[in-house]
Amino acid sequence: MDFTLSVEEREVRDWVRTFVQRELVPREPEVLRRERDGKPGITGDELDELRLKAKESGFWGVQTPEEYGGMGLSAVMTALLEAELGKTFVPFSFGGSADNILFHANEEQKQRYLLPTISGERKSCFAITEPGAGSDAKAIRTSAKKDGADWVINGEKTFITGGNEADFTMVFAVTDPEKGANGGVTCFLVDRDMGWRSEYIDTMGEWGPASLIFEDVRVPESQILGEVGQGFALAMQWIGRGRYLLPARAIGSCERLLTMAIEHANTRETFGAPIAERQAIQWMIADSGVELEALRWLVLHAAWQVDQGLDSRHAQSMAKLYGGVKANEIVDRVLQIHGGMGYTRELPVERWYRELRLLRIYEGTDEIQRRTIARNLLKGHVKVGGVLG
Ligand SMILES: Cc1cc2nc3c(=O)[nH]c(=O)nc-3n(C[C@H](O)[C@H](O)[C@H](O)COP(=O)(O)OP(=O)(O)OC[C@H]3O[C@@H](n4cnc5c(N)ncnc54)[C@H](O)[C@@H]3O)c2cc1C
Repeated sequence: MDFTLSVEEREVRDWVRTFVQRELVPREPEVLRRERDGKPGITGDELDELRLKAKESGFWGVQTPEEYGGMGLSAVMTALLEAELGKTFVPFSFGGSADNILFHANEEQKQRYLLPTISGERKSCFAITEPGAGSDAKAIRTSAKKDGADWVINGEKTFITGGNEADFTMVFAVTDPEKGANGGVTCFLVDRDMGWRSEYIDTMGEWGPASLIFEDVRVPESQILGEVGQGFALAMQWIGRGRYLLPARAIGSCERLLTMAIEHANTRETFGAPIAERQAIQWMIADSGVELEALRWLVLHAAWQVDQGLDSRHAQSMAKLYGGVKANEIVDRVLQIHGGMGYTRELPVERWYRELRLLRIYEGTDEIQRRTIARNLLKGHVKVGGVLG
């Protein structure tokens, strides 16, 4: 078992590390100022500019296959990059990527949706959640009914990331109520100008998702992604595209936060000594250090399984659950170590505190990850201790 990174892996990681330090971290005070004025921390033009700068050094389409102009990096490498990007709260991701399920589009759809999404000309959003169906995604009720040559979509989606900015959505609708998720759900590619509208949802985080409203939105048959009735499988493929990537980003955030806590503990004095000398503080630092390393290896192991073509769902659920729970515990300890200052908006700890909270909710809540993990163990799909085969 060799945990060392190859020379190439180290070079790629170090490039991103430097990019984060040089291009993103200096923007943090301005990002905080704007967000506190209720504006986006970074404008679309600034994001494009940063993405182009990264592209000049070859960082474009991190996981996009090379035939589409991407880097086609491995899952492990992508997880390492996400961890670097997580070291700042500046909302940045590399350009040149598209939702995995758009690669299932037919040739004509690829020209209209996949390629412009990769190039950044078009923006997509993924819409399955509804007011009455979140964890229980099979309970969706948005309907698509055949009318002549067209399909007519009615219903409401909620909490859709990018729903305010997207110019098309991949929306999941029931096309056969009797079959439900087993052959009765279809995915449609629907442009905003075909008739859906979005409404902003205010959250405790810095970016608001949207409700999408469909009232008699009429689309031709050519807007179906994949096959009629096969939408639920596509939705699961989208959700399963990289559960390890969300906790991977949290690794970087926890590294940065723990570093801040260590600096503060070493310099803040109470009762004549740095608080770092108090066992209560040392234990918080120690626990956070151990949990951060445990999270790193859960994430990298899940990513390694993806690269090996193994069924990584169990490992990814464990990484997502552990990442959500532990990142929240770590940021809470870091806030505690900073005392009153941790609670203020002068420091970014509260910013991370709010952002990391989401990790326990979206793309499968803690409870749903536990449900999956427990089911795998109880039904024997995964052997206890079977991680090494
Ligand atoms: C900021 C944000 C962005 C999002 N982005 C998207 C997006 O882009 N596209 C999209 O389609 N969706 C998106 N979502 C929706 C997200 O995936 C759902 O919110 C999530 O799956 C939980 O569903 P819910 O909110 O309906 O909660 P519910 O399913 O109603 O759950 C409520 C509580 O009950 C628990 N619970 C539910 N079932 C069980 C069970 N069987 N056993 C034990 N506990 C259970 C849950 O864990 C939770 O604690 C986003 C959500 C947020 C907040």
